[in-house]
Amino acid sequence: MERSVIHMILHFFVPFLVAKAGWKQNWVQPFIIMALTIAVDFDHLFADTIFDPNRCGLGFHPLHSWPAITVYLLLLLTPRFRIVALGLLIHMGLDGIDCLWIL
Ligand SMILES: [Zn+2]
Repeated sequence: MERSVIHMILHFFVPFLVAKAGWKQNWVQPFIIMALTIAVDFDHLFADTIFDPNRCGLGFHPLHSWPAITVYLLLLLTPRFRIVALGLLIHMGLDGIDCLWIL
């Protein structure tokens, strides 16, 4: 299977696994919130070209920058945004794995 396809599947499968493990019976809402954090990829629209399968997004796109990731880590400490932050950090982790895969 193509790397990009596996990457997209993981963006939904990993939040699903985390939601099932962390919220047991009430996993649906955390899963949906974490899955929706894929919206962070809208920052690709500012890039030229928008999609480049051989570009590492971490540190390149504004919402994938190290300062942004630092904010996501801080949001993890706030109960109100914890699930969103977790979803964003899972996203960054998966994008990081993709970066290693490119090498
Ligand atoms: Zn991304």
